[in-house]
Amino acid sequence: MVGGKQRLVVVSNRLPATLKKDGDEWTVQGGAGGLVTALAPVLKNRGGVWIGWSGASDPSIDVDSLLADFSAKAGYELYTVPLTKEEVDGYYFGFSNEIIWPLFHDLQTRCRFHPRYWRMYLDVNFKFAEMVARSTTPDDYIWIQDYHLMHQAFFLKSMGVKRQTGFFLHIPFPPPDIFMKLPWRWKVIQALTEFDLVGFHTTQDRDNFAECLRRFQPDTEIEGSGAVVEVRSGNRQFRLGAFPISIDFNQFNGLAENEDVARKAFNIREALRHRKIILGVDRLDYTKGIPERIRSIQTLFRMFPDLRGRVNFVQIAVPSREEVDEYKELRTEIEQLVGRVNGEFSFPGWVPVHYHYKSFPHDELVAYYSAADIALVTPLRDGMNLVAKEYCAANVSQDGVLVLSEFAGAAAQLQEDAYLVNPYDMEGIAKDLNRAIHRDKAERKLHMTNLRDQIRKNNIYWWVDSFLQAGISKRLGDFPEM
Ligand code: UDP
Repeated sequence: MVGGKQRLVVVSNRLPATLKKDGDEWTVQGGAGGLVTALAPVLKNRGGVWIGWSGASDPSIDVDSLLADFSAKAGYELYTVPLTKEEVDGYYFGFSNEIIWPLFHDLQTRCRFHPRYWRMYLDVNFKFAEMVARSTTPDDYIWIQDYHLMHQAFFLKSMGVKRQTGFFLHIPFPPPDIFMKLPWRWKVIQALTEFDLVGFHTTQDRDNFAECLRRFQPDTEIEGSGAVVEVRSGNRQFRLGAFPISIDFNQFNGLAENEDVARKAFNIREALRHRKIILGVDRLDYTKGIPERIRSIQTLFRMFPDLRGRVNFVQIAVPSREEVDEYKELRTEIEQLVGRVNGEFSFPGWVPVHYHYKSFPHDELVAYYSAADIALVTPLRDGMNLVAKEYCAANVSQDGVLVLSEFAGAAAQLQEDAYLVNPYDMEGIAKDLNRAIHRDKAERKLHMTNLRDQIRKNNIYWWVDSFLQAGISKRLGDFPEM
């Protein structure tokens, strides 16, 4: 306990720090993602620990002493769970990326249900749980992050280790029809019931989980109707909650107001002068619907020929899982499609699709957000989608338009003020894009102001507080309604 508060222990697949080789020397760099930014001050204030894999499987690297230097500066402790290459292959590349990731995004035909992956997932979860048991006390609050580590509470209990535990799922939870395809479905459901609190992004994900649980345990009863509900199921009593993750609104808003960034945004607009800019930003992943989106742009120029020469589509695709064949093929497919659309419509002085295959530094990304007239965010399925929120936070001129997939978790919060589209409906998207392009200034401002207010209020700090309050408060009534 620090100052009467429970110490917070965060457990995730990867530590919030990456090992980098600089010549012959290894160095540690801190992560800059929203989760790390939000949790770092909490860990520092409460006295905290972060447990995870360092990303290095080379036994010759002295990870512990590298992390000790990093811990001293960060103000919280870091413990690494050493993993061999074989363990990483089975648990991370196999079970996590080839089974749970596609299945939970409703893409079960992409799953490879190898029993070897499952066994390695269990072995690695056991290893993580041993580290949690060793480096924590019964007074600590243990917050497990994401689908790689669904068996933490289960293994802690099997070791006889009593801890208060919460779990947050950063990806969607599928409906029973899809979840039932998992060969180890009941083991996963049962493992999740061992946590004291299980959090999802949306009430839809939470309801999907509750339905799967009922199939496993028909006596399941749910009490309450707010963001957090109490569950009784078999001999278990625990909580389920909906906590939509968010961003540091002020960080994006502030960057967009920065002079250098504003100049960069101006330059982007100048390069595409008199043209509306539609922007797509994604990791290059098959859940993001990038090929479908490019086909929608093709449909837009076919259905509305007057827009040729007046609109540009800019797609930023951040390299991801590049060593995996499926991702290489997706990249080729996207690049061929870009070529086809540009080949069909370009004329001297105008190329409709600008495609970037790289990761942009934050200030340049924000410049693109703030230069774009429309953000086209059309994942086939997404837990939340932070790009949608970042675009709005960076839209300081308040006259941008968000076109958002109804299958992104963000749609549950932003639906009133975004154009909601079905990412598979090319003509529907083209029509909504045409409407968005012609939307008048007052209407754009009204909706963008609402979007920004919502994201400003429900930011990443609110998300952390909401989860921890629900996890740590003893009774449901102690937990304020969201
Ligand atoms: N992003 C980035 N560099 C880029 C483009 C995007 O760091 O060049 C970040 C972006 O700011 C966002 C994240 O990548 O925070 C993507 O998050 P999202 O929830 O949209 O999708 P995920 O990749 O987590 O599935």
